[in-house]
Amino acid sequence: MSPEAPVAARLREVRLPPGSRIGILGGGQLGRMTAMAAARLGYSCHIYCPSEDEPALQVTPAHTIAPYEDTVSLAAFADTVQVVTFEFENVPAEAAKTLAAKVPVRPGWKALHIAQNRLREKDFLTGIGVPTVAFREVAQPSALARAVEDLGRPAVLKRAMLGYDGKGQVPIKAGTVLDEAWAAMGAERGVLESFIEFSSEISVIVARGLDGTVATYDAVENRHVNHILDTTTAPARIDEGLRIEAERLARRIAEALELVGLVAVEMFVTRDGRLLVNELAPRPHNSGHWTIDACATSQFEQLVRAVCGLPLGSTERHSDAVMKNLIGHAVDDWLEILEDPSAKLHLYGKAHARPGRKMGHVTRLYPKTG
Ligand code: AMP
Repeated sequence: MSPEAPVAARLREVRLPPGSRIGILGGGQLGRMTAMAAARLGYSCHIYCPSEDEPALQVTPAHTIAPYEDTVSLAAFADTVQVVTFEFENVPAEAAKTLAAKVPVRPGWKALHIAQNRLREKDFLTGIGVPTVAFREVAQPSALARAVEDLGRPAVLKRAMLGYDGKGQVPIKAGTVLDEAWAAMGAERGVLESFIEFSSEISVIVARGLDGTVATYDAVENRHVNHILDTTTAPARIDEGLRIEAERLARRIAEALELVGLVAVEMFVTRDGRLLVNELAPRPHNSGHWTIDACATSQFEQLVRAVCGLPLGSTERHSDAVMKNLIGHAVDDWLEILEDPSAKLHLYGKAHARPGRKMGHVTRLYPKTG
């Protein structure tokens, strides 16, 4: 018997076969697209979310509508599924614990705990030798002046927890009054970051399987408008050395998190050609939607494979791609998009378009360049 044989045998035992049910915390478009990929492989999903009106509920056979604090509903949900994953990282720690007592939660506690808090995230990254933006913890308003003195202006004050799409982020410019900035951040604990004059923003999505296999997608370039992702271009227009380094950092992070699932690693490319990690998201990510149409395996299928203990799929990109989010009333252009032969339209089934709301996305494919 080869030395790997016992490992292979154990993996067969923990592999969840098609027909199994995956529990997903969160009912948004990321859950919806994960459930669609799961269905293609013969799995079904049970969505747990606090509201009735969610995109993932339209494409799944089983739902629990309850708050994340409701441990009785969580325990009942756990009894109906063979594994639990999540489509957003701000799951209360207690909820993750209740679930983990009954069923594997993938990615696990460590990835969730770190990604929920910008300070923990930066400490973790620094601890494993991954460069981040210069930062200071600001535990109370009186500490802000000292932090601004240390880092200089311009800087950005962010909530330590529960900030996304630019929410809870306040620029500190030459004339900014610090008390007003603190009040605008709207949290009890913050992190002050140096403002980075970046030449571009990129991200790398990396998957890690139950057997420790790691697979990265090509680094992509992201353009934000009003702090919300607007466009992702695949591949990123960066030189080979940076591309390799970005992938190396992403792998390092996935391994150090002992991840089973996906993590999206967002980075700044500085004007002097360095990479600084800005943020981690241990779940499918908006900057990975292009993989549905341009890669052998989408990020959503890859998540299903990882959490079910299946072999990871090929991340090979067969086309270049530009993914554009359809935000608010941009979705009204659906007919024109359908008439464009290079465009693949994805709508999330949301009834009402509001400013800033992600209603869908469109991916345009181009011949592969590199
Ligand atoms: P975040 O929520 O941290 O991903 O920030 C959203 C967007 O705000 C980023 O993608 C950047 O475009 C911008 N941003 C955030 N932090 C900084 C920073 N320290 N310097 C410059 N731009 C930033």
